[in-house]
Amino acid sequence: MAFESLTEKLQNVFKNLRSKGRLTEADVKTALREVKMALLEADVNFKVVKQFIKSVQERAVGQDVMNGLNPGQMVIKIVNEEMVNLMGSETTEIPSKQGKEITIWMMAGLQGAGKTTTAAKLAGKMKSKGKKPLLVACDVYRPAAITQLQVNGEKQGVEVFSMGDKNHPVDIAKAAVEHAKNNQQNLVIIDTAGRLHIDEDMMRELEEIKAQVDVDATILVVDAMTGQDAVNVASAFAEKVGIDGVILTKMDGDTRGGAALSIKAVSGKPIYFVGMGEKLSDLEQFYPDRMASRILG
Ligand code: GDP
Repeated sequence: MAFESLTEKLQNVFKNLRSKGRLTEADVKTALREVKMALLEADVNFKVVKQFIKSVQERAVGQDVMNGLNPGQMVIKIVNEEMVNLMGSETTEIPSKQGKEITIWMMAGLQGAGKTTTAAKLAGKMKSKGKKPLLVACDVYRPAAITQLQVNGEKQGVEVFSMGDKNHPVDIAKAAVEHAKNNQQNLVIIDTAGRLHIDEDMMRELEEIKAQVDVDATILVVDAMTGQDAVNVASAFAEKVGIDGVILTKMDGDTRGGAALSIKAVSGKPIYFVGMGEKLSDLEQFYPDRMASRILG
Protein backbone atom coordinates (compact mmCIF):
# COMPACT_ATOMS: atom_id res chain seq x y z
CA MET A 1 0.00 0.00 0.00
CA ALA A 2 1.13 3.56 -0.72
CA PHE A 3 2.89 5.41 2.09
CA GLU A 4 2.92 2.33 4.33
CA SER A 5 6.42 2.79 5.64
CA LEU A 6 6.15 6.59 5.92
CA THR A 7 2.87 6.36 7.82
CA GLU A 8 4.25 3.77 10.19
CA LYS A 9 7.31 5.85 10.98
CA LEU A 10 5.36 9.05 11.49
CA GLN A 11 2.91 7.28 13.75
CA ASN A 12 5.76 6.12 15.94
CA VAL A 13 7.10 9.64 16.23
CA PHE A 14 3.63 10.91 17.11
CA LYS A 15 3.07 8.17 19.68
CA ASN A 16 6.18 9.31 21.50
CA LEU A 17 5.08 12.92 21.37
CA ARG A 18 1.61 12.14 22.68
CA SER A 19 2.96 10.13 25.58
CA LYS A 20 4.79 13.16 26.94
CA GLY A 21 2.86 15.57 29.12
CA ARG A 22 5.19 18.48 28.62
CA LEU A 23 7.55 18.96 25.75
CA THR A 24 10.98 20.51 25.87
CA GLU A 25 12.50 22.14 22.84
CA ALA A 26 14.82 19.14 22.66
CA ASP A 27 11.82 16.78 22.48
CA VAL A 28 10.48 18.69 19.51
CA LYS A 29 13.87 18.72 17.82
CA THR A 30 14.26 14.97 18.26
CA ALA A 31 10.78 14.33 16.92
CA LEU A 32 11.38 16.54 13.90
CA ARG A 33 14.69 14.86 13.19
CA GLU A 34 12.78 11.58 13.01
CA VAL A 35 10.11 13.12 10.78
CA LYS A 36 12.91 14.38 8.54
CA MET A 37 14.46 10.91 8.26
CA ALA A 38 11.08 9.36 7.49
CA LEU A 39 10.40 11.88 4.71
CA LEU A 40 13.83 11.41 3.17
CA GLU A 41 13.38 7.65 3.22
CA ALA A 42 10.02 8.14 1.50
CA ASP A 43 11.98 9.79 -1.32
CA VAL A 44 10.74 13.30 -0.69
CA ASN A 45 13.00 15.89 -2.31
CA PHE A 46 15.79 16.97 0.04
CA LYS A 47 15.18 20.72 -0.26
CA VAL A 48 11.48 20.21 0.28
CA VAL A 49 12.16 18.24 3.45
CA LYS A 50 14.52 20.90 4.76
CA GLN A 51 12.03 23.70 4.20
CA PHE A 52 9.20 21.62 5.62
CA ILE A 53 11.06 20.86 8.86
CA LYS A 54 12.06 24.50 9.18
CA SER A 55 8.44 25.65 8.86
CA VAL A 56 7.18 23.10 11.37
CA GLN A 57 9.99 23.88 13.80
CA GLU A 58 9.38 27.62 13.70
CA ARG A 59 5.77 27.12 14.56
CA ALA A 60 6.25 24.24 17.00
CA VAL A 61 8.76 25.78 19.36
CA GLY A 62 6.61 28.90 19.73
CA GLN A 63 5.38 29.81 23.18
CA ASP A 64 1.77 28.90 22.53
CA VAL A 65 2.62 25.36 21.63
CA MET A 66 5.17 24.71 24.35
CA ASN A 67 2.93 26.15 27.07
CA GLY A 68 -0.28 24.73 25.72
CA LEU A 69 -2.37 22.03 27.35
CA ASN A 70 -1.40 19.35 24.92
CA PRO A 71 1.84 20.22 23.18
CA GLY A 72 2.26 16.82 21.53
CA GLN A 73 -1.10 17.15 19.80
CA MET A 74 -0.22 20.69 18.73
CA VAL A 75 2.98 19.55 17.05
CA ILE A 76 1.09 16.81 15.22
CA LYS A 77 -1.48 19.36 14.10
CA ILE A 78 1.25 21.62 12.76
CA VAL A 79 2.89 18.75 10.84
CA ASN A 80 -0.50 17.97 9.34
CA GLU A 81 -1.15 21.59 8.32
CA GLU A 82 2.29 22.07 6.83
CA MET A 83 1.89 18.84 4.87
CA VAL A 84 -1.38 20.11 3.41
CA ASN A 85 0.36 23.38 2.48
CA LEU A 86 3.16 21.46 0.84
CA MET A 87 0.71 19.73 -1.48
CA GLY A 88 -0.97 22.98 -2.48
CA SER A 89 -3.59 23.53 0.26
CA GLU A 90 -6.63 23.45 -2.00
CA THR A 91 -7.97 21.21 -4.72
CA THR A 92 -7.16 22.73 -8.11
CA GLU A 93 -9.54 22.38 -11.05
CA ILE A 94 -8.14 21.95 -14.55
CA PRO A 95 -8.55 25.28 -16.43
CA SER A 96 -11.62 25.28 -18.69
CA LYS A 97 -13.39 27.73 -20.93
CA GLN A 98 -16.79 28.88 -19.80
CA GLY A 99 -20.06 28.68 -21.66
CA LYS A 100 -20.38 27.08 -25.06
CA GLU A 101 -16.76 27.40 -26.11
CA ILE A 102 -14.61 24.33 -26.58
CA THR A 103 -12.10 23.56 -23.86
CA ILE A 104 -8.88 21.91 -25.04
CA TRP A 105 -6.67 19.83 -22.81
CA MET A 106 -3.39 18.31 -23.94
CA MET A 107 -1.99 15.25 -22.18
CA ALA A 108 1.79 14.92 -21.96
CA GLY A 109 4.15 12.47 -20.34
CA LEU A 110 6.79 9.82 -20.73
CA GLN A 111 5.90 6.47 -22.24
CA GLY A 112 4.41 4.09 -19.73
CA ALA A 113 3.41 6.79 -17.26
CA GLY A 114 -0.24 6.07 -17.96
CA LYS A 115 -1.04 8.94 -20.31
CA THR A 116 -3.37 7.15 -22.71
CA THR A 117 -5.24 5.36 -19.93
CA THR A 118 -5.55 8.60 -17.97
CA ALA A 119 -6.87 10.50 -21.00
CA ALA A 120 -9.72 7.98 -21.23
CA LYS A 121 -10.29 8.05 -17.46
CA LEU A 122 -10.48 11.84 -17.54
CA ALA A 123 -12.88 11.83 -20.49
CA GLY A 124 -15.20 9.48 -18.60
CA LYS A 125 -15.04 11.61 -15.47
CA MET A 126 -15.88 14.78 -17.40
CA LYS A 127 -18.67 13.07 -19.30
CA SER A 128 -20.24 12.12 -15.99
CA LYS A 129 -20.09 15.81 -15.06
CA GLY A 130 -22.10 16.74 -18.12
CA LYS A 131 -19.32 17.59 -20.57
CA LYS A 132 -19.26 16.28 -24.12
CA PRO A 133 -15.68 15.11 -24.58
CA LEU A 134 -13.77 14.10 -27.68
CA LEU A 135 -10.58 12.07 -27.30
CA VAL A 136 -7.90 12.72 -29.91
CA ALA A 137 -5.24 10.21 -30.92
CA CYS A 138 -2.09 12.24 -31.62
CA ASP A 139 0.44 9.56 -30.69
CA VAL A 140 1.22 8.71 -34.30
CA TYR A 141 4.48 6.92 -33.56
CA ARG A 142 2.87 4.07 -31.71
CA PRO A 143 -0.08 2.62 -33.65
CA ALA A 144 -0.88 0.53 -30.56
CA ALA A 145 -1.53 3.75 -28.67
CA ILE A 146 -4.23 4.73 -31.18
CA THR A 147 -5.93 1.36 -30.81
CA GLN A 148 -5.62 1.54 -27.03
CA LEU A 149 -7.30 4.94 -26.99
CA GLN A 150 -10.06 3.69 -29.28
CA VAL A 151 -10.73 0.67 -27.08
CA ASN A 152 -10.78 2.75 -23.91
CA GLY A 153 -12.84 5.52 -25.48
CA GLU A 154 -15.43 2.97 -26.50
CA LYS A 155 -15.58 1.61 -22.97
CA GLN A 156 -16.22 5.13 -21.72
CA GLY A 157 -18.78 5.89 -24.41
CA VAL A 158 -16.58 8.72 -25.65
CA GLU A 159 -15.80 9.29 -29.32
CA VAL A 160 -12.16 8.99 -30.35
CA PHE A 161 -10.90 11.14 -33.22
CA SER A 162 -8.10 9.55 -35.20
CA MET A 163 -6.46 10.12 -38.57
CA GLY A 164 -4.23 7.08 -38.35
CA ASP A 165 -0.47 7.40 -38.15
CA LYS A 166 0.25 9.16 -41.44
CA ASN A 167 -0.63 12.73 -40.46
CA HIS A 168 1.19 15.29 -38.40
CA PRO A 169 -0.05 15.58 -34.80
CA VAL A 170 -0.68 19.32 -35.21
CA ASP A 171 -2.94 18.69 -38.22
CA ILE A 172 -4.78 15.96 -36.34
CA ALA A 173 -5.31 18.23 -33.35
CA LYS A 174 -6.62 21.06 -35.57
CA ALA A 175 -8.96 18.72 -37.43
CA ALA A 176 -10.19 17.32 -34.11
CA VAL A 177 -11.15 20.77 -32.86
CA GLU A 178 -13.10 21.38 -36.10
CA HIS A 179 -14.78 18.02 -35.63
CA ALA A 180 -15.74 18.93 -32.06
CA LYS A 181 -17.22 22.23 -33.28
CA ASN A 182 -19.33 20.45 -35.87
CA ASN A 183 -20.51 17.84 -33.41
CA GLN A 184 -21.33 20.02 -30.40
CA GLN A 185 -18.56 18.51 -28.31
CA ASN A 186 -17.18 20.95 -25.76
CA LEU A 187 -14.09 19.25 -24.39
CA VAL A 188 -11.20 18.06 -26.56
CA ILE A 189 -8.63 15.85 -24.83
CA ILE A 190 -5.50 15.33 -26.91
CA ASP A 191 -3.35 12.26 -26.27
CA THR A 192 0.21 12.98 -27.39
CA ALA A 193 3.28 10.85 -28.01
CA GLY A 194 5.47 9.83 -25.11
CA ARG A 195 9.11 8.82 -25.24
CA LEU A 196 11.17 6.75 -22.86
CA HIS A 197 13.16 9.80 -21.89
CA ILE A 198 12.69 13.51 -22.14
CA ASP A 199 13.90 14.49 -25.57
CA GLU A 200 13.90 17.58 -27.74
CA ASP A 201 11.62 16.16 -30.45
CA MET A 202 8.91 15.34 -27.95
CA MET A 203 9.12 18.76 -26.37
CA ARG A 204 9.07 20.50 -29.73
CA GLU A 205 6.00 18.59 -30.82
CA LEU A 206 4.14 19.51 -27.65
CA GLU A 207 5.12 23.15 -28.07
CA GLU A 208 3.92 23.07 -31.64
CA ILE A 209 0.51 21.66 -30.77
CA LYS A 210 0.25 24.23 -28.02
CA ALA A 211 1.12 27.06 -30.39
CA GLN A 212 -1.24 25.95 -33.16
CA VAL A 213 -4.24 24.85 -31.13
CA ASP A 214 -5.68 26.99 -28.36
CA VAL A 215 -4.78 24.64 -25.50
CA ASP A 216 -6.39 25.61 -22.17
CA ALA A 217 -4.40 23.20 -20.04
CA THR A 218 -1.35 21.05 -20.58
CA ILE A 219 -1.66 18.14 -18.20
CA LEU A 220 1.42 16.13 -17.37
CA VAL A 221 0.93 12.49 -16.44
CA VAL A 222 3.64 11.09 -14.17
CA ASP A 223 4.10 7.73 -12.49
CA ALA A 224 4.15 7.99 -8.69
CA MET A 225 6.17 4.77 -8.48
CA THR A 226 9.18 6.57 -9.95
CA GLY A 227 9.57 8.85 -6.91
CA GLN A 228 12.04 11.68 -7.42
CA ASP A 229 12.22 10.93 -11.14
CA ALA A 230 8.55 11.89 -11.38
CA VAL A 231 9.39 15.18 -9.71
CA ASN A 232 12.32 15.80 -12.07
CA VAL A 233 10.14 15.03 -15.08
CA ALA A 234 7.52 17.49 -13.81
CA SER A 235 10.14 20.20 -13.36
CA ALA A 236 11.61 19.60 -16.82
CA PHE A 237 8.21 19.74 -18.52
CA ALA A 238 7.19 22.79 -16.50
CA GLU A 239 10.32 24.57 -17.64
CA LYS A 240 10.47 23.44 -21.26
CA VAL A 241 6.88 23.04 -22.43
CA GLY A 242 4.99 24.83 -19.71
CA ILE A 243 2.46 22.61 -17.97
CA ASP A 244 -0.53 23.66 -15.93
CA GLY A 245 -0.75 20.71 -13.61
CA VAL A 246 -0.10 17.05 -13.03
CA ILE A 247 -1.96 13.78 -12.77
CA LEU A 248 -0.10 11.30 -10.61
CA THR A 249 -0.75 7.69 -11.63
CA LYS A 250 -0.21 4.35 -9.91
CA MET A 251 -0.93 5.68 -6.45
CA ASP A 252 -2.53 2.30 -5.78
CA GLY A 253 0.93 0.71 -5.85
CA ASP A 254 3.37 0.73 -2.98
CA THR A 255 4.80 4.16 -3.78
CA ARG A 256 6.76 5.61 -0.91
CA GLY A 257 5.06 8.95 -1.28
CA GLY A 258 7.88 11.23 -2.37
CA ALA A 259 6.27 12.34 -5.63
CA ALA A 260 2.93 13.30 -4.10
CA LEU A 261 4.69 15.33 -1.43
CA SER A 262 7.30 17.03 -3.62
CA ILE A 263 5.76 17.82 -7.00
CA LYS A 264 3.95 21.04 -6.07
CA ALA A 265 6.83 22.39 -4.02
CA VAL A 266 9.49 21.61 -6.63
CA SER A 267 7.71 22.26 -9.93
CA GLY A 268 5.20 24.84 -8.69
CA LYS A 269 2.42 22.90 -10.42
CA PRO A 270 -0.61 21.42 -8.68
CA ILE A 271 -1.76 17.81 -8.76
CA TYR A 272 -5.26 17.62 -10.26
CA PHE A 273 -6.05 13.93 -9.99
CA VAL A 274 -4.47 10.69 -8.86
CA GLY A 275 -4.69 7.36 -10.67
CA MET A 276 -5.71 4.61 -8.28
CA GLY A 277 -5.69 1.54 -10.52
CA GLU A 278 -5.88 0.16 -14.03
CA LYS A 279 -9.65 0.34 -14.33
CA LEU A 280 -11.05 3.36 -16.16
CA SER A 281 -13.02 4.39 -13.09
CA ASP A 282 -9.85 4.51 -10.95
CA LEU A 283 -9.25 8.26 -11.08
CA GLU A 284 -9.72 10.44 -8.01
CA GLN A 285 -9.64 14.17 -7.54
CA PHE A 286 -6.63 15.21 -5.50
CA TYR A 287 -7.41 16.70 -2.09
CA PRO A 288 -4.26 17.84 -0.26
CA ASP A 289 -5.97 17.59 3.14
CA ARG A 290 -7.25 14.07 2.56
CA MET A 291 -3.88 13.00 1.23
CA ALA A 292 -2.15 14.40 4.32
CA SER A 293 -4.60 12.54 6.56
CA ARG A 294 -3.89 9.35 4.67
CA ILE A 295 -0.16 9.79 4.99
CA LEU A 296 -0.33 10.61 8.68
CA GLY A 297 -2.57 7.58 9.25
P1 GDP B 1 1.30 5.73 -21.71
O1 GDP B 1 2.45 5.08 -22.42
O2 GDP B 1 1.77 6.84 -20.84
O3 GDP B 1 0.18 6.13 -22.58
O4 GDP B 1 0.78 4.65 -20.65
P2 GDP B 1 -0.50 3.70 -20.67
O5 GDP B 1 -1.75 4.49 -20.54
O6 GDP B 1 -0.39 2.74 -21.81
O7 GDP B 1 -0.29 2.95 -19.28
C1 GDP B 1 0.83 2.14 -19.00
C2 GDP B 1 0.41 1.06 -18.00
O8 GDP B 1 0.13 1.65 -16.74
C3 GDP B 1 -0.85 0.32 -18.39
O9 GDP B 1 -0.68 -1.05 -18.10
C4 GDP B 1 -1.92 0.93 -17.51
O10 GDP B 1 -2.98 0.04 -17.25
C5 GDP B 1 -1.13 1.24 -16.27
N1 GDP B 1 -1.72 2.30 -15.44
C6 GDP B 1 -2.08 3.55 -15.80
N2 GDP B 1 -2.57 4.24 -14.75
C7 GDP B 1 -2.50 3.41 -13.69
C8 GDP B 1 -2.84 3.54 -12.28
O11 GDP B 1 -3.28 4.58 -11.79
N3 GDP B 1 -2.62 2.44 -11.50
C9 GDP B 1 -2.11 1.27 -12.01
N4 GDP B 1 -1.93 0.27 -11.17
N5 GDP B 1 -1.77 1.14 -13.29
C10 GDP B 1 -1.97 2.18 -14.13
